[in-house]
Formats: sequence, C-alpha cells, structure tokens
Amino acid sequence: MSKTLIIGAGGVGRVVALKCAQHPGVFSSIMLASRTKSKCDDIAADVKKRTGQTIETARVDADQVPELVELINAFQPALVIHVALPYQDLTIMDACLETGVHYLDTANYEPKDEAKFEYSWQWAYQDRFKQKGLMALLGCGFDPGVTSIFTAHAAKHHFDEMHYLDIVDCNGGDHGKAFATNFNPEINIREITQKGRYWENGDWVETEPFEFKEVLNYPNIGKRDSYLLYHEELESLVKNFPTLKRARFWMTFGQEYLTHLRVIQNIGMARIDPVLYNGMEIVPLNFLKSVLPDPGSLGDNYSGETSIGCRIKGIKDGKEKTYYIWNNCSHQLAFNETGAQGVSYTTGVPAMTGAMMMLNGQWMRPGVYNVEEFNPDPFLDKLGKHGLPWHEEINGDLELT
Ligand code: NDP
Repeated sequence: MSKTLIIGAGGVGRVVALKCAQHPGVFSSIMLASRTKSKCDDIAADVKKRTGQTIETARVDADQVPELVELINAFQPALVIHVALPYQDLTIMDACLETGVHYLDTANYEPKDEAKFEYSWQWAYQDRFKQKGLMALLGCGFDPGVTSIFTAHAAKHHFDEMHYLDIVDCNGGDHGKAFATNFNPEINIREITQKGRYWENGDWVETEPFEFKEVLNYPNIGKRDSYLLYHEELESLVKNFPTLKRARFWMTFGQEYLTHLRVIQNIGMARIDPVLYNGMEIVPLNFLKSVLPDPGSLGDNYSGETSIGCRIKGIKDGKEKTYYIWNNCSHQLAFNETGAQGVSYTTGVPAMTGAMMMLNGQWMRPGVYNVEEFNPDPFLDKLGKHGLPWHEEINGDLELT
C-alpha cells in the first residue's frame, strides 16, 4: 500500500493513472500533477468514471526543483512516476533525493537546447541514490523498457551468448490524420531527425538519418519499410550484455510521414534554436507542436496494431540459435480501455508494472538502474496480465542479416 505521485498528464500519464487506479491494493493513493492542472482534472474524472477510484490532482512546473519539493513534501508519496518530458528527468531526480522518494521514468534525459540523449547524466546520480537508500528505475516504458526486459529474458532463458540484437518497432496503425506523431511531437521529431547510430564490434557506427532501410515482416501486420535509428536503450544494453557484437534499432515509417517530415525540416520548422517573430523569441519546433494533433487525442478511430520486439541471434549449447520475442497492441482495444491510443498504452502499462515491482519489493535496490538489470521473469508475468501479452518464436527466419 503506497502513495504514488505521477507527473505528466499527456497520453502516457492518462494510461499510467488509469492502470494504477485499477490496482488500489498496491497504489493506495494516487496524485496526478502536471503543468496544466485542467488536463489532470480531465484524466481524474475519466479515471473515476472507469474505475470508481478518486485520484488527487495538482499543478506543478517540474522544471523547478523547489516547486517539486513542496508538492512531494505535501503529498508524501513513496514513489514518483515521471511521464512528463525527458527535459525534467534531472530536476525530478533532484527533488526525489531531497525528499527521500523513489523515482521511475520512461525516457532518458535530454537538454532542451541540444537534441542529444544519453544516460551519462542520470547514471551520474548512482552514488547519491545509493547513499540515500533510494532507487531510480530508468526507461521503464516499451522502448526503452520492455525491449530491454525482453533482451534480459532472452539472455536468461535462451542463450549462452547473445551476438546480434535487432529491436524492431512497427506502428501498423492508421489514425486518419495527414501527419501526427504518436507521442510528444517535439521529442519525437528531435529523436528521428538526428543521425542514426548502431553498435558493432565494440564501437558506435554513425549513419545519416534514414540511411538504412529494410523491409521487415511484422506479425499480424505484414511487410513494412523499417529504418535504422539510434535509440537510447542500445547504450545500456551493450554495456549490460557485453557479448553483443552488434545491436541495432529499427522503426517503421510510411512514405507520407517521411515526406511531411522532409518538408518540416526543409522549411526550418524542426529547428530547436529560438528565432525572432514579431519581436518575440519562439522555437519553431515548440510552435509546430502547438499546431499538430495532440498525440493523446489520436485514439478515437485509430485502427491497426503496434508490434514491437527483439530479434536476437546467438549461441545455445554450442549451436546457433535465433529468437524473436514481441508484443502486438491494438490501438482500438487500448482506446476502449483507457481512452488513449496504443503507443501511450504500450508506454504506460510497463511504467505502472515497473512501479508495482518497486513498491512490492521485487525490484527494489538502492541506486540508479536500467530495467534489464533486474530479474525479467516476474515483470513479464505481470505484463501480459496487465494488457500486453507477448509471444516468442525460436529458430525462425529473423530476416535481418
Ligand atoms: P505529452 O506531450 O502528451 O505529455 C507530456 C505531459 O508533460 C503534458 O501533460 C505536459 O504538460 C507535461 N509537462 C511538460 N513539461 C512540464 C513541466 N515543466 N512540468 C510539468 N509538466 C510538464 O507526451 P506523452 O504522454 O506522449 O509522453 C510522455 C513521456 O513518455 C515522454 O517523456 C516521452 O518521451 C515518453 N515516452 C516513452 C516511450 C517509451 O516507450 N519508453 C514511448 C512514448 C513516450 P502540458 O500539457 O502543460 O504541456
């Protein structure tokens, strides 16, 4: 029985709040806080309608440590689930340290003025969390999150040595809009317009954005153009599974999406440096976010499924083995249950599950950790029960060479 503070009231915050409220035996009391309180109130009203549970709401600017400290001291949670934006990771970790509260997030820190994300900033908190007897669980969404736990499961149960890892992320859904991103547009566009990167033979290999494409077949979806991107879980996975000779991340994009993206970049709307407009400084990508569809509103009429998993090659009992583990999530079923689309759902369910693992003591160790550093079995048991069942195929054709 623990009090939990959720920060961030977007699509992911909605799913986390609802899934936590479904388990009052673990999350005895919930507060949802964000920059815009009315969004928290809307979600709280929906949670009440769907589960009968009352959750408290509050306004907080999570860029401001003193505001966070005041809120945490007033509510006294055991854990903060951070599903606002990656820019707030460090301020929320600072506030957790100051108030003696555990921490969980779904995306690693990224400075606002530079599209660069890496774990070093958060790993640097290791000693401070340990000394205070607190735990920080990093990247507990789907990717990062479940993809790393899938990899830990493969290492534990299927391989003596893993050699090649390909994380494959397909959104086979159709929301009917000309252009929309499935999670925060600013974070999403910053991520995919960067140079790509993958791990090979002990080093990072840099690629141009969208330089490598494969046509991959996804269960229940079919063939989709999949592009090599850099994704944050690669950084911790190659550290925690040093037998990996190569680790890559692939994500599907349709031609229509890529054309819009190219235009957005060509006309300067993806810029993250301020420009002067009518004597006022604005950041073009921030402005673009305010005119694009809110990812939280995409659920209605969103058809199709996501399919995210890991395709792994390695050695078991002296023989070559291939292994594919994945989850498919229906946008419509996610929307019916939570009012949010599949991408918010596949992020929010693992965040709630990870929080449950921390609060019930199954994953509790002072320090700063990535999810693959814990026993994957109890997490994966729960994941299916909470709405994200997973499947596996042994010695099938992984398609990727
Ligand atoms: P949204 O943009 O829909 O929601 C973000 C929320 O954070 C909004 O409610 C916003 O408030 C709030 N927020 C932003 N800045 C602050 C601040 N300074 N103080 C308080 N609240 C703030 O994003 P999503 O719900 O789609 O995504 C949430 C997080 O999940 C992101 O970090 C994203 O990177 C991560 N994610 C992780 C995935 C994974 O698989 N690991 C996949 C998808 C997303 P306001 O409404 O006022 O703007």
